[in-house]
Amino acid sequence: MQLGQGYYKLLEPKYKYPKCYCTDEEIEIAVNVAEFVDKKLMPERHNFEGGWHRDEKLALKTRNKYYAECVKMGLTKTSMPKKFGGLELSTVLRNMVYLELSRADVGLAMEVMHIHWPVSFMIAARRDDLLKEFAPRILGDEAWIGCVAITERAGGANLEDPAFELRTIRTTLTIEGDEAIVNGVKIWPGTAGPAERFVDKYLKGHLGYWTIVTRDPSKGMDAAGIVYVPPDAKGFSVSPPYKKMGLCWQDENCELFYDNVRVPKRYVLDLDQPGLGGKIIKGYVISLGRLGVSSRLVGMAESVLRIALDWTGGRDIAGVPVRERSYFASILGEMAKRIEVARNYVLMCSWQAGHPEIYGPPELPEMQAKFSAARSFAGNTCMFCVNKAMELMGSYGYAYDYHVEKYMRDYKIIQMVLGGVQRDILDIAQGLYGPFKWSGMDEWIRQGGLVTEGFGGARY
Ligand SMILES: Cc1cc2nc3c(=O)[nH]c(=O)nc-3n(C[C@H](O)[C@H](O)[C@H](O)COP(=O)(O)OP(=O)(O)OC[C@H]3O[C@@H](n4cnc5c(N)ncnc54)[C@H](O)[C@@H]3O)c2cc1C
Repeated sequence: MQLGQGYYKLLEPKYKYPKCYCTDEEIEIAVNVAEFVDKKLMPERHNFEGGWHRDEKLALKTRNKYYAECVKMGLTKTSMPKKFGGLELSTVLRNMVYLELSRADVGLAMEVMHIHWPVSFMIAARRDDLLKEFAPRILGDEAWIGCVAITERAGGANLEDPAFELRTIRTTLTIEGDEAIVNGVKIWPGTAGPAERFVDKYLKGHLGYWTIVTRDPSKGMDAAGIVYVPPDAKGFSVSPPYKKMGLCWQDENCELFYDNVRVPKRYVLDLDQPGLGGKIIKGYVISLGRLGVSSRLVGMAESVLRIALDWTGGRDIAGVPVRERSYFASILGEMAKRIEVARNYVLMCSWQAGHPEIYGPPELPEMQAKFSAARSFAGNTCMFCVNKAMELMGSYGYAYDYHVEKYMRDYKIIQMVLGGVQRDILDIAQGLYGPFKWSGMDEWIRQGGLVTEGFGGARY
């Protein structure tokens, strides 16, 4: 038996997903996904990183093979409306799926989310024409990778800071006749890269880049928008993927360069709908994006708890498993307590997100506060759990073979994407009694704001 595969009733889908938030059908789907994770993904966890020697070929093959299996299982189709042939399942279900996949590899859950995310933007923009256009690729059995490009050299967290009202976006959109022209640079989006890296016997290709843009930085929310850029658009190029602490292949990040990229005007999601783009960026990109990542943090925390439970159940001190000693038991109980609270809060927020008629749309500061609290609490829970699992297991926790070290590397960025750890807390406060403004903000933006060199602008 692999460590972490023991049976713990409280961690089984039927017990951990309360029926007040999800249907019997959704729980059944979660049971199937959990089985797929335990049987197929868990034994391959190391291979998502190319094994001990970080073999790139093995990493890409593992990513593509299992992403294609997720597509065949229908996991990327759950958010597409039924009228286009999708499953139209709930936000709760999506977060249950991310949680289960993240128990094995959070990068795989990110790939699945990179399809749900743009689908949610197109639904919010009421763009049935675009949903219809993408449906055959999203709903077919062939696997396509997607990407949402938000972050810029001038700071990801600034773009995600409500005080700036999207006035720090520097990637521009202009309309000329039937074409939209995009200029600028994005940094960090994943999964990105040269198109040929996404074609093999498992993957059909890269679907493209849903890019956050502005028509005029000085007009902030009213001028912000989203435009779809196909990977083969003329003038679009990428940097080599960055080398990182983890998620090197499961979520390849690059710089994206838009040099007078021309796309059909219909690819502007909020075309002729002034102000809608800004709302979608706040609500669906940032606010719901944070809620989506919180479930993945819970999944990783569950995994390390299971590993720690199995290990401490098998390690004796004077003939008694250490997990039965009060010191160890109190730590394991504390891990389980935090996970239980984090998971239930994520599910509750997901349920509320699915009922905007009661709670309002996701761009409301109050909803953003809730979803940021979910990510913040889940992030702290995961940090506590990986740290404690490692301490409980001593050197074994630190060893490659026992997997905790991989979760320790992976969870950190999931706690930080979409604005950083501090922004979560600031956004909770803003939902409670905001909005805040930075003194000197207007002058700073007028002068061009922060401009960094990023990774130097090398092209692939
Ligand atoms: C693996 C990975 C995947 C990613 N995926 C994507 C993706 O799919 N799409 C995409 O567009 N980007 C993606 N990113 C980028 C990521 O979302 C940003 O890096 C993140 O939002 C932080 O922005 P930054 O790195 O520019 O940090 P900065 O904005 O420079 O912030 C640095 C630090 O200062 C704090 N800070 C800065 N300004 C403020 C402020 N105004 N308020 C409060 N705190 C502040 C931040 O919290 C942070 O701790 C990814 C990054 C990684 C590593």
